[in-house]
Amino acid sequence: MSRILFWIALIALVIMAVRSKLRAAVRRSQMEAQQQQRPAPSHPAEIEAMTQCAHCGMYFPSSEAVRADGLDYCSPGHVRLPPR
Ligand SMILES: [Zn+2]
Repeated sequence: MSRILFWIALIALVIMAVRSKLRAAVRRSQMEAQQQQRPAPSHPAEIEAMTQCAHCGMYFPSSEAVRADGLDYCSPGHVRLPPR
């Protein structure tokens, strides 16, 4: 009788171990899928400061700005025009 109880206990332990392994594997694959769906963070060097044209108010990268009298303009043509 004690042999049967021993085998039942052993089988139950094996089933529980296999279940927990499967659950961990499923959780891991779900996390990997979520990480793949998430877009990679853009490189900080690609982020450029934006500035606004003093005449027309358009936003554009500050590296393309035409500076005059401490103000940023979108084009040389707007430098000659009065600021808003
Ligand atoms: Zn402008």
